[in-house]
Amino acid sequence: MRAIIVNKTDSGVSAAVEDIDEARLPAGADGDQLVTVKVTHTTLNYKDGLCLTGGGGLVRDYPHVPGIDFAGVVEASDDPRYAPGDEVVLTGWRVGEVWWGGYADKARVKGDWLVPLPKGLSARQAMAVGTAGFTSMLAVMALEAHGMAPGGKPVLVTGAAGGVGSVAVAILANLGYEVAAVTGRPEQEAYLKSLGASTIVPRSDLADAPKRPLGRETYAGCVDAVGGAMLAHVMTLLQYGGSAAAVGLAGGAALEGATVIPFLLRGANILGIDSVMQPREPRLAAWDRVATDLPLAKLDDMIAEASLEDLPELGRSILKGGVRGRVVVTL
Ligand code: NDP
Repeated sequence: MRAIIVNKTDSGVSAAVEDIDEARLPAGADGDQLVTVKVTHTTLNYKDGLCLTGGGGLVRDYPHVPGIDFAGVVEASDDPRYAPGDEVVLTGWRVGEVWWGGYADKARVKGDWLVPLPKGLSARQAMAVGTAGFTSMLAVMALEAHGMAPGGKPVLVTGAAGGVGSVAVAILANLGYEVAAVTGRPEQEAYLKSLGASTIVPRSDLADAPKRPLGRETYAGCVDAVGGAMLAHVMTLLQYGGSAAAVGLAGGAALEGATVIPFLLRGANILGIDSVMQPREPRLAAWDRVATDLPLAKLDDMIAEASLEDLPELGRSILKGGVRGRVVVTL
């Protein structure tokens, strides 16, 4: 089988496609109910960029096969819930980080980590959504659970031209929200408007730490893929009781310039979103909502097709904010 093998040597971390023996797939521990999946589609997420390049300390053991999400067909299963021929999807559970992932013709994972291919989605569509889009859905659900509803002030999406951001824009617009999309790439304005954004906010407006602890109440909520000073800035602009769903840190981990004032005087909230350890029931519920809330025709505009061979280079690019929308690999 073919796989991207990431190796670490004295000269650094390298990633390349190799032919390997299937017997090298993870064997698990005694009692694990493992499922072998013929991978049909996988994708590129920000974390894959880190795993391909050895960044972020995510990969502990080398050689390693990255790929934090994949879709495919069950080939063999110790788990009675899955039979050969079943179509399945995997996101999260640290697969592709501490367990070999989807950048290969086959993957072997615990049955608990899989979900059936969501109804209404093809495997390619499910992977066009992938971890980034699934997490956007979780973010929208969290914001709604905290009172956000269509018809109010605009909802901000940061890192809008990226994977998380693109899917968030499309979901929110489809649900009837007015969407303000933050991007550092002015050339992506037409793309973001085609996904449903009504306003484009230049990244430079929000990139710096806020100068004042509160600004005008401008946004009903925010899906934030950027973190850092931008999230601190966004918190000063939320309406009373508004929330920001903190999804990512493409712009940094430290909330430079943040104060407690938006929390004290505006009842603002930061809602942490973790797709990785999401339990099965809410995971299935979020996938169901992806199939109903995301206009699937818009997915086609977000997809860039790539091959396994392209992924090492694309992994370096995504870490620099150089990838638009979602990258899908068909194996
Ligand atoms: P992408 O690279 O596709 O998107 C990130 C976007 O952020 C870029 O496209 C760019 O958008 C913007 N950006 C990049 N660098 C900077 C910067 N220095 N300052 C401000 N904006 C910047 O990545 P993903 O969408 O796949 O992931 C985004 C984040 O979400 C990552 O940190 C990722 O790890 C995290 N994540 C978290 C999950 C969870 O479970 N919590 C799940 C999935 C992802 P633009 O060009 O439009 O400005």
